[in-house]
Amino acid sequence: MSGMPSGRVHNLINTVAYGLIAAAAVWGVQGGAVVITSAQALSFSVAYAAGTFLLSPDLDLAEGRVDSKRRWGVLGLLWVPYGRAFSHRGLSHTWLLGPLTRLLYLGLIGLLVFGVLKFFWPALAWPGLPGPISFTLALPLMLGYYVSQWLHLIADGVRPDHGMKRSSQKFRKLRGGVRRLGYRPGGRRR
Ligand SMILES: [Zn+2]
Repeated sequence: MSGMPSGRVHNLINTVAYGLIAAAAVWGVQGGAVVITSAQALSFSVAYAAGTFLLSPDLDLAEGRVDSKRRWGVLGLLWVPYGRAFSHRGLSHTWLLGPLTRLLYLGLIGLLVFGVLKFFWPALAWPGLPGPISFTLALPLMLGYYVSQWLHLIADGVRPDHGMKRSSQKFRKLRGGVRRLGYRPGGRRR
């Protein structure tokens, strides 16, 4: 896409931003302003790297050549249906749901693979987590992932209300319809 930052530019921006975040975190910890355990720092960093290099919003272009798909190697093919399903800079590039679509898609693929394996090997059990993930680790995980995604969207010039216009239009239409039916929300105000 012309005018859009390329995958390399996105990677550079996210890497520089990571350095700044890490420096701020070290500064905050040393000054005693925040307490960050090494497990939390690792969770944030792993999720941030995964969001930057493997789960970029530009996977909505996965039918073509895109940096974040290339990093998956042969498995990059798995993202082609995602690229077909999502139009470029559509839902995939929204601030809250967009990042979630890629996690859900990944989960769906995991389920499919498990289903196929289970068919050939009925004794197979769903691999459990090594332990329950506590909120203190889940939070830096989600934060690392989402911050990496938001930096991409900011670089793309996508605003946080992107994708909401359509739903608010729908809501306005619905409200108009309700009013025509004779219902006035908020009493008898004219
Ligand atoms: Zn993008």
